[in-house]
Amino acid sequence: ALTIGIVGLPNVGKSTLFNALTKNQVLSANYPFATIEPNIGVVNLPDERLDTLAGLFSSERIVPATVSFVDIAGIVRGASEGEGLGNKFLANIREADAIAQVVRGFSDGDVVHVEGRVDPKSDMETINTELILADMETLERAITRYEKEVRGKKLDAAVLASAQEALAVLQAGTPLSAASVDLEPIKELGLLTSKPFIYVFNVDEEILTDAAKKQQLADLVAPAEAVFLDAKIESELIDLDPEDATELLQSTGQEESGLDQLARVGFDTLGLQTYLTAGPKEARAWTIHKGWKAPQAAGVIHTDFEKGFIKAEVISFEDLVETGSVHEARAHGKARMEGKDYVMQDGDVVEFRFNV
Ligand code: GDP
Repeated sequence: ALTIGIVGLPNVGKSTLFNALTKNQVLSANYPFATIEPNIGVVNLPDERLDTLAGLFSSERIVPATVSFVDIAGIVRGASEGEGLGNKFLANIREADAIAQVVRGFSDGDVVHVEGRVDPKSDMETINTELILADMETLERAITRYEKEVRGKKLDAAVLASAQEALAVLQAGTPLSAASVDLEPIKELGLLTSKPFIYVFNVDEEILTDAAKKQQLADLVAPAEAVFLDAKIESELIDLDPEDATELLQSTGQEESGLDQLARVGFDTLGLQTYLTAGPKEARAWTIHKGWKAPQAAGVIHTDFEKGFIKAEVISFEDLVETGSVHEARAHGKARMEGKDYVMQDGDVVEFRFNV
Protein backbone atom coordinates (compact mmCIF):
# COMPACT_ATOMS: atom_id res chain seq x y z
CA ALA A 1 0.00 0.00 0.00
CA LEU A 2 1.11 3.57 -0.61
CA THR A 3 1.90 5.31 2.57
CA ILE A 4 2.74 8.70 3.93
CA GLY A 5 4.38 9.36 7.30
CA ILE A 6 3.66 12.47 9.32
CA VAL A 7 6.37 14.47 11.07
CA GLY A 8 6.49 17.80 12.84
CA LEU A 9 7.36 19.59 16.06
CA PRO A 10 5.28 18.82 19.17
CA ASN A 11 2.00 20.71 19.55
CA VAL A 12 1.60 21.57 15.89
CA GLY A 13 -1.57 19.47 15.48
CA LYS A 14 -0.20 16.15 14.23
CA SER A 15 -2.35 14.01 16.53
CA THR A 16 -5.42 16.10 15.84
CA LEU A 17 -4.91 15.61 12.12
CA PHE A 18 -4.09 11.93 12.50
CA ASN A 19 -7.21 11.38 14.60
CA ALA A 20 -9.26 12.90 11.82
CA LEU A 21 -7.54 10.56 9.40
CA THR A 22 -8.17 7.46 11.48
CA LYS A 23 -11.78 8.37 12.22
CA ASN A 24 -12.22 8.90 8.53
CA GLN A 25 -11.17 5.33 7.94
CA VAL A 26 -13.88 3.92 10.18
CA LEU A 27 -16.45 5.73 8.10
CA SER A 28 -14.91 4.62 4.86
CA ALA A 29 -16.91 1.43 4.52
CA ASN A 30 -15.17 0.49 1.32
CA TYR A 31 -11.77 0.26 2.85
CA PRO A 32 -10.45 -2.71 0.91
CA PHE A 33 -8.13 -4.21 3.51
CA ALA A 34 -9.44 -6.81 5.89
CA THR A 35 -7.38 -5.91 8.92
CA ILE A 36 -7.51 -2.31 9.93
CA GLU A 37 -4.57 -1.26 12.01
CA PRO A 38 -5.14 1.38 14.63
CA ASN A 39 -2.10 3.39 13.64
CA ILE A 40 -3.10 3.72 10.02
CA GLY A 41 -5.27 6.52 8.71
CA VAL A 42 -6.81 6.22 5.29
CA VAL A 43 -8.22 8.88 3.02
CA ASN A 44 -10.16 8.22 -0.10
CA LEU A 45 -9.01 9.98 -3.20
CA PRO A 46 -12.04 12.06 -4.13
CA ASP A 47 -13.21 11.11 -7.63
CA GLU A 48 -16.62 12.15 -8.90
CA ARG A 49 -16.17 10.02 -12.00
CA LEU A 50 -16.83 6.95 -9.86
CA ASP A 51 -20.29 8.23 -8.97
CA THR A 52 -21.03 8.77 -12.64
CA LEU A 53 -19.81 5.28 -13.53
CA ALA A 54 -21.78 3.71 -10.70
CA GLY A 55 -24.84 5.44 -12.16
CA LEU A 56 -24.18 4.19 -15.71
CA PHE A 57 -23.54 0.61 -14.63
CA SER A 58 -25.96 0.50 -11.68
CA SER A 59 -22.98 -0.61 -9.60
CA GLU A 60 -23.69 -1.86 -6.10
CA ARG A 61 -20.74 -0.06 -4.59
CA ILE A 62 -17.97 2.41 -5.21
CA VAL A 63 -14.37 1.65 -4.34
CA PRO A 64 -12.17 4.74 -4.55
CA ALA A 65 -8.40 4.79 -4.51
CA THR A 66 -6.88 5.45 -1.11
CA VAL A 67 -3.83 7.01 0.42
CA SER A 68 -2.65 5.68 3.79
CA PHE A 69 -1.00 7.64 6.55
CA VAL A 70 1.13 5.37 8.70
CA ASP A 71 2.45 7.06 11.75
CA ILE A 72 3.39 10.29 13.39
CA ALA A 73 6.74 11.32 14.75
CA GLY A 74 7.19 14.34 16.94
CA ILE A 75 10.64 15.74 16.44
CA VAL A 76 12.35 18.31 18.62
CA ARG A 77 15.58 20.14 18.11
CA GLY A 78 18.37 17.71 18.98
CA ALA A 79 16.18 14.65 18.50
CA SER A 80 18.75 12.97 16.30
CA GLU A 81 21.49 13.31 18.94
CA GLY A 82 20.14 11.30 21.87
CA GLU A 83 21.63 7.84 21.37
CA GLY A 84 19.82 7.19 18.16
CA LEU A 85 16.51 7.89 19.87
CA GLY A 86 15.45 9.99 16.92
CA ASN A 87 16.26 7.12 14.65
CA LYS A 88 14.18 4.63 16.55
CA PHE A 89 11.31 7.05 16.62
CA LEU A 90 11.40 7.42 12.90
CA ALA A 91 11.34 3.69 12.12
CA ASN A 92 7.86 3.62 10.58
CA ILE A 93 8.40 6.86 8.75
CA ARG A 94 11.45 5.31 7.09
CA GLU A 95 9.22 2.79 5.37
CA ALA A 96 6.78 5.39 4.08
CA ASP A 97 6.73 6.46 0.45
CA ALA A 98 6.50 10.16 1.28
CA ILE A 99 6.59 12.46 4.27
CA ALA A 100 4.01 15.02 5.26
CA GLN A 101 5.44 17.68 7.52
CA VAL A 102 2.82 19.40 9.67
CA VAL A 103 3.72 23.01 10.31
CA ARG A 104 1.97 25.15 12.89
CA GLY A 105 0.45 28.31 11.54
CA PHE A 106 -2.31 28.73 14.10
CA SER A 107 -1.77 31.08 16.98
CA ASP A 108 -3.47 29.98 20.17
CA GLY A 109 -2.07 31.31 23.42
CA ASP A 110 -3.38 28.25 25.24
CA VAL A 111 -1.29 25.89 23.16
CA VAL A 112 2.37 26.16 24.00
CA HIS A 113 4.80 26.30 21.11
CA VAL A 114 7.96 24.28 21.91
CA GLU A 115 10.20 27.01 20.63
CA GLY A 116 8.23 29.82 22.18
CA ARG A 117 6.78 31.47 19.08
CA VAL A 118 4.81 30.58 15.96
CA ASP A 119 7.31 30.78 13.13
CA PRO A 120 6.65 28.34 10.28
CA LYS A 121 9.91 29.06 8.45
CA SER A 122 12.12 28.43 11.44
CA ASP A 123 10.06 25.35 12.43
CA MET A 124 10.54 23.82 9.02
CA GLU A 125 14.27 24.47 9.24
CA THR A 126 14.41 22.76 12.63
CA ILE A 127 12.62 19.67 11.32
CA ASN A 128 14.55 19.52 8.08
CA THR A 129 17.83 19.81 9.94
CA GLU A 130 16.85 16.97 12.27
CA LEU A 131 15.90 14.81 9.29
CA ILE A 132 19.25 15.53 7.65
CA LEU A 133 21.03 14.62 10.93
CA ALA A 134 18.98 11.43 11.25
CA ASP A 135 19.96 10.42 7.70
CA MET A 136 23.60 11.18 8.44
CA GLU A 137 23.48 8.92 11.46
CA THR A 138 21.86 6.15 9.41
CA LEU A 139 24.52 6.52 6.74
CA GLU A 140 27.44 6.62 9.15
CA ARG A 141 26.32 3.32 10.70
CA ALA A 142 25.70 1.81 7.29
CA ILE A 143 29.08 2.92 5.99
CA THR A 144 30.89 1.20 8.88
CA ARG A 145 29.03 -1.99 8.05
CA TYR A 146 29.47 -1.61 4.29
CA GLU A 147 33.22 -1.07 4.64
CA LYS A 148 33.59 -4.39 6.44
CA GLU A 149 31.41 -6.16 3.90
CA VAL A 150 33.29 -4.71 0.94
CA ARG A 151 36.60 -5.75 2.50
CA GLY A 152 35.20 -9.25 2.98
CA LYS A 153 34.02 -9.17 -0.66
CA LYS A 154 30.43 -9.63 0.44
CA LEU A 155 29.22 -6.35 -0.97
CA ASP A 156 29.53 -4.46 -4.21
CA ALA A 157 31.77 -1.41 -3.74
CA ALA A 158 29.17 0.68 -5.62
CA VAL A 159 26.87 0.43 -2.60
CA LEU A 160 29.52 1.87 -0.32
CA ALA A 161 30.33 4.60 -2.85
CA SER A 162 26.68 5.58 -3.06
CA ALA A 163 26.44 5.83 0.73
CA GLN A 164 29.59 7.95 0.94
CA GLU A 165 28.34 10.26 -1.75
CA ALA A 166 24.98 10.67 -0.01
CA LEU A 167 26.72 11.43 3.29
CA ALA A 168 28.79 14.18 1.66
CA VAL A 169 25.62 15.79 0.29
CA LEU A 170 24.02 15.80 3.73
CA GLN A 171 27.18 17.13 5.38
CA ALA A 172 26.84 20.13 3.08
CA GLY A 173 23.35 20.66 4.54
CA THR A 174 21.46 19.54 1.45
CA PRO A 175 18.53 17.13 1.63
CA LEU A 176 19.01 14.13 -0.66
CA SER A 177 15.92 14.92 -2.72
CA ALA A 178 17.68 18.08 -3.90
CA ALA A 179 20.83 16.27 -5.04
CA SER A 180 21.53 13.98 -7.98
CA VAL A 181 23.07 11.04 -6.10
CA ASP A 182 22.02 7.59 -7.30
CA LEU A 183 20.33 6.19 -4.19
CA GLU A 184 19.08 2.99 -5.78
CA PRO A 185 21.93 0.86 -4.30
CA ILE A 186 21.10 2.05 -0.75
CA LYS A 187 17.32 2.03 -1.03
CA GLU A 188 17.08 -0.34 1.95
CA LEU A 189 18.16 2.47 4.27
CA GLY A 190 14.90 4.38 3.73
CA LEU A 191 16.66 7.72 3.92
CA LEU A 192 14.18 10.33 5.04
CA THR A 193 15.36 13.32 3.07
CA SER A 194 15.27 11.34 -0.17
CA LYS A 195 11.49 11.00 0.07
CA PRO A 196 9.01 13.35 -1.56
CA PHE A 197 7.76 15.97 0.88
CA ILE A 198 4.37 17.54 1.42
CA TYR A 199 3.96 20.50 3.74
CA VAL A 200 0.74 20.63 5.69
CA PHE A 201 0.15 24.06 7.19
CA ASN A 202 -2.16 23.77 10.14
CA VAL A 203 -3.62 27.25 10.22
CA ASP A 204 -6.60 29.08 11.62
CA GLU A 205 -9.52 30.48 9.70
CA GLU A 206 -7.87 33.84 9.25
CA ILE A 207 -5.11 32.30 7.12
CA LEU A 208 -7.40 29.76 5.42
CA THR A 209 -9.30 32.63 3.88
CA ASP A 210 -6.22 34.74 3.09
CA ALA A 211 -4.94 33.82 -0.38
CA ALA A 212 -1.93 36.14 -0.21
CA LYS A 213 -0.73 34.74 3.10
CA LYS A 214 -1.16 31.19 1.82
CA GLN A 215 0.83 32.01 -1.29
CA GLN A 216 3.60 33.38 0.91
CA LEU A 217 3.78 30.12 2.85
CA ALA A 218 3.53 28.01 -0.30
CA ASP A 219 6.46 29.95 -1.79
CA LEU A 220 8.57 29.00 1.23
CA VAL A 221 8.33 25.31 0.37
CA ALA A 222 8.07 25.31 -3.42
CA PRO A 223 8.62 23.17 -5.47
CA ALA A 224 7.19 20.90 -2.73
CA GLU A 225 3.41 21.03 -2.44
CA ALA A 226 1.63 22.88 0.35
CA VAL A 227 -1.75 21.94 1.81
CA PHE A 228 -3.63 24.33 4.08
CA LEU A 229 -6.06 23.06 6.63
CA ASP A 230 -7.33 23.59 10.13
CA ALA A 231 -6.78 20.32 11.96
CA LYS A 232 -9.45 21.17 14.52
CA ILE A 233 -12.02 21.80 11.81
CA GLU A 234 -10.97 18.59 10.04
CA SER A 235 -11.68 16.56 13.15
CA GLU A 236 -15.08 18.26 13.46
CA LEU A 237 -15.94 17.70 9.78
CA ILE A 238 -15.62 13.96 10.23
CA ASP A 239 -18.55 13.91 12.63
CA LEU A 240 -20.88 15.96 10.44
CA ASP A 241 -23.25 14.74 7.76
CA PRO A 242 -22.26 15.79 4.22
CA GLU A 243 -24.52 18.85 4.05
CA ASP A 244 -23.35 20.33 7.34
CA ALA A 245 -19.75 19.52 6.42
CA THR A 246 -20.09 21.41 3.13
CA GLU A 247 -21.58 24.34 5.00
CA LEU A 248 -18.75 24.41 7.53
CA LEU A 249 -16.17 24.23 4.75
CA GLN A 250 -17.78 27.04 2.83
CA SER A 251 -17.91 29.20 5.91
CA THR A 252 -14.11 28.89 6.07
CA GLY A 253 -13.67 29.61 2.37
CA GLN A 254 -12.82 26.05 1.33
CA GLU A 255 -14.21 23.94 -1.47
CA GLU A 256 -12.97 20.61 -0.23
CA SER A 257 -11.77 19.28 3.09
CA GLY A 258 -8.11 19.35 3.99
CA LEU A 259 -8.10 15.56 4.09
CA ASP A 260 -9.36 15.42 0.50
CA GLN A 261 -6.71 17.90 -0.53
CA LEU A 262 -4.10 15.88 1.28
CA ALA A 263 -5.14 12.73 -0.59
CA ARG A 264 -4.99 14.52 -3.92
CA VAL A 265 -1.62 16.14 -3.28
CA GLY A 266 -0.25 12.90 -1.81
CA PHE A 267 -1.27 11.03 -4.92
CA ASP A 268 0.32 13.59 -7.15
CA THR A 269 3.50 13.83 -5.13
CA LEU A 270 3.90 10.07 -5.34
CA GLY A 271 3.54 10.17 -9.13
CA LEU A 272 0.35 8.12 -9.09
CA GLN A 273 -2.75 8.04 -11.21
CA THR A 274 -5.81 5.84 -11.48
CA TYR A 275 -7.64 3.90 -14.10
CA LEU A 276 -11.25 2.86 -13.69
CA THR A 277 -13.27 -0.31 -13.97
CA ALA A 278 -17.04 -0.55 -13.77
CA GLY A 279 -19.70 -3.22 -13.68
CA PRO A 280 -22.83 -4.16 -11.77
CA LYS A 281 -20.80 -5.13 -8.71
CA GLU A 282 -18.58 -2.11 -8.36
CA ALA A 283 -17.22 1.07 -9.86
CA ARG A 284 -13.62 1.18 -8.86
CA ALA A 285 -10.44 3.20 -9.15
CA TRP A 286 -7.13 1.33 -9.34
CA THR A 287 -3.88 2.95 -8.35
CA ILE A 288 -0.91 2.83 -10.72
CA HIS A 289 2.22 4.85 -11.36
CA LYS A 290 2.16 7.38 -14.15
CA GLY A 291 3.68 5.83 -17.27
CA TRP A 292 2.72 2.24 -16.49
CA LYS A 293 1.77 0.04 -19.43
CA ALA A 294 -1.41 -2.00 -19.71
CA PRO A 295 -0.08 -5.39 -18.45
CA GLN A 296 1.51 -3.86 -15.35
CA ALA A 297 -1.72 -1.97 -14.67
CA ALA A 298 -3.68 -5.20 -15.06
CA GLY A 299 -1.39 -6.77 -12.46
CA VAL A 300 -2.78 -4.42 -9.82
CA ILE A 301 -6.12 -6.23 -10.08
CA HIS A 302 -4.57 -9.68 -10.10
CA THR A 303 -1.14 -11.05 -10.91
CA ASP A 304 -2.81 -13.52 -13.32
CA PHE A 305 -4.11 -10.55 -15.30
CA GLU A 306 -0.55 -9.45 -15.90
CA LYS A 307 0.84 -12.92 -16.64
CA GLY A 308 -1.95 -13.84 -19.03
CA PHE A 309 -2.46 -10.38 -20.50
CA ILE A 310 -3.85 -10.41 -24.05
CA LYS A 311 -5.24 -6.93 -24.53
CA ALA A 312 -7.21 -4.17 -22.89
CA GLU A 313 -10.43 -2.66 -24.11
CA VAL A 314 -10.16 1.01 -23.24
CA ILE A 315 -12.79 3.72 -23.38
CA SER A 316 -11.99 7.17 -22.09
CA PHE A 317 -14.27 8.30 -19.29
CA GLU A 318 -15.46 11.27 -21.38
CA ASP A 319 -16.33 9.08 -24.37
CA LEU A 320 -18.19 6.65 -22.16
CA VAL A 321 -20.26 9.40 -20.60
CA GLU A 322 -20.95 10.94 -23.99
CA THR A 323 -22.07 7.69 -25.61
CA GLY A 324 -23.82 6.47 -22.45
CA SER A 325 -22.80 2.82 -22.49
CA VAL A 326 -20.03 0.41 -23.45
CA HIS A 327 -22.27 -0.92 -26.22
CA GLU A 328 -22.78 2.55 -27.71
CA ALA A 329 -19.13 3.46 -27.27
CA ARG A 330 -18.19 0.37 -29.27
CA ALA A 331 -20.77 1.19 -31.93
CA HIS A 332 -19.26 4.67 -32.29
CA GLY A 333 -15.71 3.39 -32.53
CA LYS A 334 -14.79 4.83 -29.14
CA ALA A 335 -13.68 1.53 -27.63
CA ARG A 336 -10.01 0.87 -28.37
CA MET A 337 -8.25 -2.48 -28.24
CA GLU A 338 -4.84 -1.78 -26.77
CA GLY A 339 -1.86 -4.13 -26.60
CA LYS A 340 0.96 -4.71 -24.15
CA ASP A 341 2.79 -1.48 -24.99
CA TYR A 342 -0.13 0.81 -24.31
CA VAL A 343 0.68 3.49 -21.71
CA MET A 344 -2.30 3.94 -19.39
CA GLN A 345 -3.95 7.35 -19.30
CA ASP A 346 -5.73 8.93 -16.37
CA GLY A 347 -9.44 8.22 -16.58
CA ASP A 348 -9.20 5.19 -18.84
CA VAL A 349 -12.17 2.89 -18.26
CA VAL A 350 -10.76 -0.55 -18.85
CA GLU A 351 -11.67 -4.16 -19.31
CA PHE A 352 -8.74 -6.54 -19.55
CA ARG A 353 -8.70 -9.68 -21.69
CA PHE A 354 -6.40 -12.36 -20.43
CA ASN A 355 -5.57 -16.09 -20.55
CA VAL A 356 -5.85 -18.14 -17.42
P1 GDP B 1 0.93 17.24 18.21
O1 GDP B 1 1.79 17.32 19.40
O2 GDP B 1 1.62 17.82 16.99
O3 GDP B 1 0.39 15.90 17.93
O4 GDP B 1 -0.28 18.27 18.46
P2 GDP B 1 -1.77 17.97 18.89
O5 GDP B 1 -2.57 17.50 17.74
O6 GDP B 1 -1.79 17.17 20.13
O7 GDP B 1 -2.24 19.47 19.21
C1 GDP B 1 -1.70 20.20 20.27
C2 GDP B 1 -2.75 21.15 20.80
O8 GDP B 1 -3.06 22.09 19.78
C3 GDP B 1 -4.06 20.46 21.15
O9 GDP B 1 -4.54 21.08 22.32
C4 GDP B 1 -4.95 20.76 19.97
O10 GDP B 1 -6.30 20.82 20.34
C5 GDP B 1 -4.44 22.10 19.52
N1 GDP B 1 -4.64 22.29 18.08
C6 GDP B 1 -4.36 21.42 17.08
N2 GDP B 1 -4.69 21.95 15.88
C7 GDP B 1 -5.19 23.18 16.14
C8 GDP B 1 -5.70 24.22 15.32
O11 GDP B 1 -5.78 24.11 14.09
N3 GDP B 1 -6.10 25.36 15.95
C9 GDP B 1 -6.02 25.51 17.30
N4 GDP B 1 -6.42 26.64 17.86
N5 GDP B 1 -5.57 24.55 18.10
C10 GDP B 1 -5.15 23.40 17.54
